[in-house]
Amino acid sequence: MAKARQNAISPTRAEDYAEWYQQVIKAADMGESSPVRGCMVIKPWGYSFWENIQRSLDERLKASGHANAYFPLFIPKSFLEKEAEHVEGFAKECAVVTHHRLEPGPDGSLVPAGELEEPLIVRPTSETMIGAIYAKWVQSYRDLPILLNQWCNVVRWELRPRLFLRTSEFLWQEGHTAHETSEEARAETRKVLEIYRGFVEDCLALPVVVGVKTAAQRFPGAVETMCIEAMMQDRKALQAGTSHYMGQNFAKASGIVYQSREGREEHAWTTSWGASARLIGAAVMTHADDDGMVMPPRLAPAHAVILPIFRGPDERRAVLDYAEGVAAAVRRLETPWGGKIEVMLDSRDMNAGEKGWEWVKKGVPIRVEAGPRDLEKNAVFVARRDRGPRDKYSQGRDDFIASLPAVLRDIQDGLFARAKAFRDANCRDIDDLGEFKAFFTPARPEKPEIHGGFALSHWCGDPACETRVAEELAATIRCVPLDREKSGPGKCVVCGGGSEGRVPFAKAY
Ligand SMILES: [Zn+2]
Repeated sequence: MAKARQNAISPTRAEDYAEWYQQVIKAADMGESSPVRGCMVIKPWGYSFWENIQRSLDERLKASGHANAYFPLFIPKSFLEKEAEHVEGFAKECAVVTHHRLEPGPDGSLVPAGELEEPLIVRPTSETMIGAIYAKWVQSYRDLPILLNQWCNVVRWELRPRLFLRTSEFLWQEGHTAHETSEEARAETRKVLEIYRGFVEDCLALPVVVGVKTAAQRFPGAVETMCIEAMMQDRKALQAGTSHYMGQNFAKASGIVYQSREGREEHAWTTSWGASARLIGAAVMTHADDDGMVMPPRLAPAHAVILPIFRGPDERRAVLDYAEGVAAAVRRLETPWGGKIEVMLDSRDMNAGEKGWEWVKKGVPIRVEAGPRDLEKNAVFVARRDRGPRDKYSQGRDDFIASLPAVLRDIQDGLFARAKAFRDANCRDIDDLGEFKAFFTPARPEKPEIHGGFALSHWCGDPACETRVAEELAATIRCVPLDREKSGPGKCVVCGGGSEGRVPFAKAY
């Protein structure tokens, strides 16, 4: 019998999921922690992935009528104090700047000298700053709607940071819109949520549940928070994007007032919505395996890598010429989604096996080996990242090139199908409280194994039932799905009260 294969990542997912996650990021060379606790370095392979996420989402936001702008990093403390719920929600996570100047102190140290009259908050989110600016911009209904987005960093003090998932400073986009009517603002909230769903499912290959947050999970200050929720491979949920309908709360706090068509003074209706570099963490936890990262082709920093294999200088020149010819032909191709196919040629002089494994761990969708024998046959040796690392096949050079776009599509679709099958297999209709508790209780509490999933259970709508589950089992209602009624009415899994349909309960990131 063949010896069990050693995995490239240690520990495996089953052995220690949290540590596996850190090791995948390290092995893929996507990011690392920094000298500042809670703040991370995003390395080129991770940042290229982020740039592709940005570009693709940005195109969709612009196509739907939004424009980009940029607002200040610092928010005066008094701005944050204007919306009571908002302050309460973010106060504990704020980084506060109190001084503006350094002076030489004893022993060559530097001492903050000029104290600010009003402390500045490093933005945790920009509703209050942008609200104050919109208040200046808006006079009449003719000034509405305002449909702006900004790509930036924000800071939310984090005591237990995890790369890409939870860091004190993180990258994101935040959209902020102001409208003439409540209906228009609500429609905007849904429109952006649908953009997020489409982007995350089509490009990142993450299947999501679309719904509305319960009051307990709502954005501080919002009237309604809508979200998309994905399931990671440890069966925990991850919120992949949110879209908030603010009603007139922030317009009243910031004074966004306009003269209506009837000549009356009215407060505008606002929304905000965001998606962050957390999506990188979500892609890792959904697609990566025990050999490393698996990049969804549509957003991969490179679609294919060519690995020339040679011994000695005689073979080297001929094989490199051949590999360069293949790369040039591939670069003339388009992906099935538009845009050029990105191919890298890795001609570093190092052990071929080791080099191949580097690209497995980085998750590049296609690896192509080309050596002297392939050259003779006018062929290449191909490996797909969605298959086992030793599952390779020989293919004629022209066939390989002609079929590459279709293979990329096949991998993209396959990743989505696999993630969806995994999620569906770990969704369970649960009507009995005992079964519900068992579902969320690991067999070994001292070192919990992967357990749980989405318990699709009935809920009466009472926050008390929701709180009981959160306190006893650390599971929350991820959202009230938009198609909730499809599951039919039933009895609340906690109290037995009437329920209009099932909602997903899960442990979450
Ligand atoms: Zn209940």
